[in-house]
Amino acid sequence: MASVLAESRQSIKHGIRGLLDLGAAATGLLQWHERRARSGLTILMYHRVLPAEACTDYPLASLVMPVDAFAQQVAWLARRCRVRPVAEALVELHCPAGDPRPLVAITFDDGYADNFEHAAPILEAAGLRATFFVATGFVETGAPFWFDRAADAWSRLTEQDRAGLFEEVAPGAELTPGLASWMSALKRLPVAERDRGVAAAMERAPGAFPNEQYAPMTPAQVAELAGRGHEIASHGIDHPILPLVDDDELKRELTESRARLAKWTGREITGFCFPNGDSDPRVAAATAGAGYAYGCSTEEGINEPSGDPFRLRRRPVSMQRVFGPTGRHSILGFRAEVTGQRERWR
Ligand SMILES: [Zn+2]
Repeated sequence: MASVLAESRQSIKHGIRGLLDLGAAATGLLQWHERRARSGLTILMYHRVLPAEACTDYPLASLVMPVDAFAQQVAWLARRCRVRPVAEALVELHCPAGDPRPLVAITFDDGYADNFEHAAPILEAAGLRATFFVATGFVETGAPFWFDRAADAWSRLTEQDRAGLFEEVAPGAELTPGLASWMSALKRLPVAERDRGVAAAMERAPGAFPNEQYAPMTPAQVAELAGRGHEIASHGIDHPILPLVDDDELKRELTESRARLAKWTGREITGFCFPNGDSDPRVAAATAGAGYAYGCSTEEGINEPSGDPFRLRRRPVSMQRVFGPTGRHSILGFRAEVTGQRERWR
């Protein structure tokens, strides 16, 4: 019952959002936002591009984009924007080019195999290059991230089991016991405790974790992307929340991942993306000290030339955000997200 109510609330929300998008396009508000975006750099944040059937029941809709929808977005971007990898875009941001189209960078976090298999061919067919933020530990071990294990287990549990798990990590919390609030409670726990919580969920969930659906790229694929002109950048080794780790661990995450990627690609690595977007002045200073030229956050917004290169803002793009009320991809919804038109009334 609760899930039926949640679903109808969701579709009402999508319906209202779709109407507001139409209104914004008809009144010129969308176009005003698009013109405004020309003064800065818009960095889009993707995670995974998968065949539509794999997206339908994907536990974290905020991390996926179906192949066809991604192809439509790329076609739109290739026509309407100057698309560059982040490192190149930052140079152009400071030396305006003759091309008046808005400056956009496309980024992918984590290093999943589908980035190589599905996203890169679509980008290349349109003549575009992107930035791939790779967690080197994920690529080397293939061990799935805790958030994938957690979300996958949650999707296989009964509502009663879910409520029990939620109570364990957030006793007495006045939150809706949904996946998002359970995950954010888990995220704040010390690593060992968090992993125990995830293991308990996996134990209770019927069926097995589908390892193959969460596979990383291989080092050879990472190197191939670099060889084809994409930017390879670091997302650390093990995806920890960096403000919570000590100085030695922070240094190891920054320097060893950078060295590993340089070895695989034969290129200097200048970009970093903070896992979960979490950073602070100590983390930012260590990132600059480790030889990086910029750091991406998950803070939403556009980057003006005067902005902090170690606090780059992005715009998350996912199925959850850009699909319309009918469950279809909406390029108008994509434009509204990309320009930040929806930011004020989210
Ligand atoms: Zn990540």
